[in-house]
Amino acid sequence: MKVIKNSLEGIREAAEILTNNGVVAFPTETVYGLGANAFSEEAVTKLYKIKDRPSFNPLIIHVSSYDMANMYGVFNSSANKLAEKYWPGPLTIIVKKKKSKIVESATAGLETIALRCPRNITASKLIRELDKPLAGPSANKSGKLTCTTPKDVYAKLKNKIDALLDGGNAELGLESTVVDCSVEKPRILRLGNITLDELNRRLDHEMSSALPLQKQIKSPGQLLKHYSPDAELLLNQNGPKKGDIFLSFGPHPKEIDGLTLTETKNLVEAAKNLFTFLHVLDRLSHAKGGVPIKVAPIPTNGVGAAINDRLLRAAKK
Ligand code: AMP
Ligand code: MG
Repeated sequence: MKVIKNSLEGIREAAEILTNNGVVAFPTETVYGLGANAFSEEAVTKLYKIKDRPSFNPLIIHVSSYDMANMYGVFNSSANKLAEKYWPGPLTIIVKKKKSKIVESATAGLETIALRCPRNITASKLIRELDKPLAGPSANKSGKLTCTTPKDVYAKLKNKIDALLDGGNAELGLESTVVDCSVEKPRILRLGNITLDELNRRLDHEMSSALPLQKQIKSPGQLLKHYSPDAELLLNQNGPKKGDIFLSFGPHPKEIDGLTLTETKNLVEAAKNLFTFLHVLDRLSHAKGGVPIKVAPIPTNGVGAAINDRLLRAAKK
């Protein structure tokens, strides 16, 4: 695997690899994506294989503008409202799919398509340089910890992908919020940095906070077990003891191994650090012979809802 520097020349090189059906990890403001040319059956097939992703779980298609998104999906009034307010940005919008050159397997043969216009400049330039939509699931093995730094992408995928475009650490650290606008009353399928309250202020109809249950999965990726470290995760823990591995919220207790997501109880900072720190503590757990990772209670307001959602799935056995 080649590590490519973030420069105009580097972006051109990454686009060239994508044009030739290669798979390239790329930075976005949310987490690292694993990019493949969405018009190429060969590249998309490779992508599913690298991730070990079930073929029924469709990919988010990344575009560099609203106009480009409009070529692949039908934007109704709620989709338009959300795109206007949040694009470019950390919001994925699901709409009815238009007939196009995007290969069927990228959308798992559904009538709908998930579209996102990232605001990360490198991602945006890469898509413009490729001049095609970029299929981009998160850069990790299916079901495993998400990667938000080039270092973690390298550690987890170096033998599997063609290149990594190094754009530094992800600014937000959680996957995009996903809203399904293909139905009459939009619904939220994945929580993220853009909160439910914010979204509800924009829409005529109030979305409920209940995510789809596993039995009636609307978003095939909303599996209950997801984002998992190898170590066992124990949630809502207080009073860690010596020998424990602890992920705290607020000042970290003295003489306890681990890290704090945020000294100052800032939820946005906690979200940014969540997956990076879980990677670090997963390695520590491994080094200590499989000690579980204890996680402090995290408030559920604001971005806290999305952090708790990720933690619940990550802890699921
Ligand atoms: P990831 O690939 O890890 O970024 O996750 C993308 C999420 O978007 C997964 O939960 C997918 O199941 C979901 N998704 C993608 N396309 C669709 C679609 N057409 N309808 C519903 N969910 C989708
Ligand atoms: Mg993912």
